Amino acid sequence: MKMSDLISFFTEVTDMQRLMFAVTVVLIFWQMETLVAFKNNPKRWSHLWNNALYILPDTLVQVAVGIFFIKTINFDQTHHWGLLFLLGIKNPVALFIVSFLMLDFCEWVYHWLTHKVPFFWRFHLVHHSDPIVDVTTTVREHPGETVLRLGFTTLWVFLTGTPLWAYFFRQFFQISCNFWCHSNFVLPEKIDKYVGLVFNTPHLHHIHHHYRHPYTDSNYADVLIIWDRLFGTFARMEEKDLIYGLETYPDEDKNWQFHTSVALPFQTLIYPEDILQEQPQEVKY
Ligand SMILES: [Zn+2]
Ligand SMILES: [Zn+2]
Repeated sequence: MKMSDLISFFTEVTDMQRLMFAVTVVLIFWQMETLVAFKNNPKRWSHLWNNALYILPDTLVQVAVGIFFIKTINFDQTHHWGLLFLLGIKNPVALFIVSFLMLDFCEWVYHWLTHKVPFFWRFHLVHHSDPIVDVTTTVREHPGETVLRLGFTTLWVFLTGTPLWAYFFRQFFQISCNFWCHSNFVLPEKIDKYVGLVFNTPHLHHIHHHYRHPYTDSNYADVLIIWDRLFGTFARMEEKDLIYGLETYPDEDKNWQFHTSVALPFQTLIYPEDILQEQPQEVKY
C-alpha cells in the first residue's frame, strides 16, 4: 500500500470505521484473556459491566469536545500553524514519524500531569482504583478526565500542527496499544524485556497499576516507553507481586461499583503520606 493511499484512507476514515476497529481489538484481547489469562478473575462479567458503564458518558463528552478538536486541526492546516509547519517537513513518511513522536511525548506529559496535579489526579485516580486490570479497564475513564484528556489532545494538535490523517493513523496504533497494555496477560519475560526497550507492554503498564507508590508514579507511557526511560520514571517489578488498585483508596466494593467509583473525585483527596506508616517501596530500575 502506498503512503498516498494511507493518507486518503485516514483523511476520510469515518467514526463508524474507528469504532468498529476498537470493538474488533477489544474482542480479540477479550478472547485472548479467556485463553491465557494471567490472573484469575471469577467476577469477570461484573467487572466488564461496571467498566462498560463509563462508555456512555465518555462518548457524550467525546462527541462534544470532538467538534472543537476538528475545528482546531482545520485552523492549523488552513493557517499553516504549528511546530510541524515551522520544521517544514514535506515528506509524508517523515511527517508521520515526527507527528507520532511528538504526540506520543505529549500524551506522556499529559499522563504525568494527571499524577502530579491534584485536581487532575482526582479524576485519573478512578482509572487506577480498578481492583482488577483487564482489557475493560481501558474504558474505565471518568468523564471529567475525558474532558481533560481531550482538552490536552486539542492543545497538542494545535501546538504541533498535526494533520488529521496523521492523527487518525497514529490513533489506530494507540487504540491497539492501550487495549493490549491493559489486557490480563503478559509476554514471555525475555520478549517483554526486548519489546519493552522501546514499546509499552502489558507487564510495564500493569506495574503502573500497582497499588503502592512510587510504582503508581512510573511507566506513564502511551505507546513508546522511551520517555519513561529518558525521564527516569521507568520501573520494573515481578508480575506475580503486583496488586492492583490504590493504597489511598482501599475500599474494593466502592471501587468495583460504577455508581460509587464515579463519585471518587468529589471526596477528600488522600495522599500516600497521609496513610503510610512505613517508607515507600524502593523502585528497581
Ligand atoms: Zn496513571
Ligand atoms: Zn491504565
